[in-house]
Amino acid sequence: MVDGIVVATLEGVIRFANPAAEQLFGRSSHELVGTQIGFPAVVGERAEIEVVHAGGTPVSAELRVADIDWEGEPARLVMLRDITLRKRAEEHAAQLEHERIGRAEAEAASHAKSDFLAMMSHELRTPLNAVIGYSELLDLDIAGPLNDDQRRHISRIRECGRHLLSLVNEVLDLAKIEAGRLTLQMGVGRLGTISDAAVSLVQASADARGITLITRSPSAVPLFFQGDEDRTRQILINLLNNALKFTPVGGTVSIECGQAAMAPADARVTVDGSWVFVRVSDTGIGIPADQIPHIFEPFTQVARGHTRPRDGSGLGLTISRRLARMMHGDLTVRSEPGKGSVFTLFLPEAGGATSALPSDPQDGASRLQGVAEVGEILIREAGQLLAAFVARIRAEDLADAAMRLRYSQLADHIATYIGDVGTVLVAVEEARGQPSGLLADGTEIQRLLAERHGAQRARLGWTSDDLHREWQLLDEEIERTLRRCANGVPPQTIEEALTIVRRFNRQAAELSRRALMRTARELGHRRKASTA
Ligand code: ADP
Repeated sequence: MVDGIVVATLEGVIRFANPAAEQLFGRSSHELVGTQIGFPAVVGERAEIEVVHAGGTPVSAELRVADIDWEGEPARLVMLRDITLRKRAEEHAAQLEHERIGRAEAEAASHAKSDFLAMMSHELRTPLNAVIGYSELLDLDIAGPLNDDQRRHISRIRECGRHLLSLVNEVLDLAKIEAGRLTLQMGVGRLGTISDAAVSLVQASADARGITLITRSPSAVPLFFQGDEDRTRQILINLLNNALKFTPVGGTVSIECGQAAMAPADARVTVDGSWVFVRVSDTGIGIPADQIPHIFEPFTQVARGHTRPRDGSGLGLTISRRLARMMHGDLTVRSEPGKGSVFTLFLPEAGGATSALPSDPQDGASRLQGVAEVGEILIREAGQLLAAFVARIRAEDLADAAMRLRYSQLADHIATYIGDVGTVLVAVEEARGQPSGLLADGTEIQRLLAERHGAQRARLGWTSDDLHREWQLLDEEIERTLRRCANGVPPQTIEEALTIVRRFNRQAAELSRRALMRTARELGHRRKASTA
């Protein structure tokens, strides 16, 4: 029989044990007979017992008891079934279920956290943009002339606002990455172009800190990578800013692009093939070896004893590495305290052997990008857009005067205006058609800017035709920028955003035209009065 059978007296003394029972107890029938059965044997009940062998693993058995006559005496027949395997399987399943629930709870918590962060960041970002926008208006003397103290205070408000905004943007980026909602615009980019663009953005800060910024390009052949150009530039700007931040005056920061047949051992890459890299090296304070594994963790900043903590959120490297990995590359570091640090961004080379990349895991999950995304692009690209816009005004020599005007005279209001239009696009999506104070702030800023702009153009002697042409050029440049940069955004969303932007521009153009006419009239009166 497979089941163990034991016969015991009513007092529990074993009279008989079959071979299966011998095996279950790990003792011979000889040893068992005459000993106490050791567990209560109640008729009619099914029970589970644990049998511990001498030196062996415990065995689980299910037992059933029945009354019988044994050699003319009333006795108990105990049937024992080995259920160890079944028990183990059950325990294993319970353990798996427990872990599954734990994981699901952790995921839900992480999603909730990311949703919360994303929502909060939006809620913080929009009013922050208004703080910055209004301080720019004040700085432009729109509410009347400022004295030096006021101007200094306004500039502090604006600086702090911008700093806070960059922190909020980082939190938002990380929340999006963690929630799997950050979509990349994968394409082919030229490494040198991106690296030059990043360098030009930090050059002023290097000069101000007395640090030499060197670009090395050992290879004359242009290098191409596969990835998202904007995000790659974001990573490089972050690396360069860190290098500048942690390098003392007189130090050197260098950036170098190159090619590698293989990714180094410390890079965690998931595809084979050839690579391109950008390396940012500095002669700064370096990072202690025990801290290196932690600098890529969120909110980590290396403690620096007596020195003042540097600006920053401790998120830059976390975001940079995650972005690098989303692009199938990696970000690595080598550093020596007192000597400096070397951060290297590896990306798959375009046209190289890595061309068979796994599709972006985000693709499937990518949802319709809203106009907020377009607004963010507009804010991010504002600098380049402005440069192109000014170049066109100069090329047409608008009002026969554009060539003589300073860049700031041509671009001042428009820079703030573009930033504000971007912000309003973000707010439009968030407000989901509801009236919103943030939207009202945005349009109020646009109105003030437009009127100011018209008045300033009048003083520069522009006609309303010149002004009309200027707004046309801005329309065109905004459209060009969005079509060029928003290639991951569905076309209908771009169209929708462009419709909103054109409406803003039309309103602003009309307001500025009226201001121009008004100012021109006033100037005419004054001139007449002074000649009279
Ligand atoms: P943040 O710069 O905002 O503090 P990061 O994630 O960019 O955040 O960097 C995390 C930390 O790593 C920094 O606070 C600093 O301690 C260290 N670190 C980063 N780059 C460098 C560098 N080039 N030299 C020395 N330390 C660095």
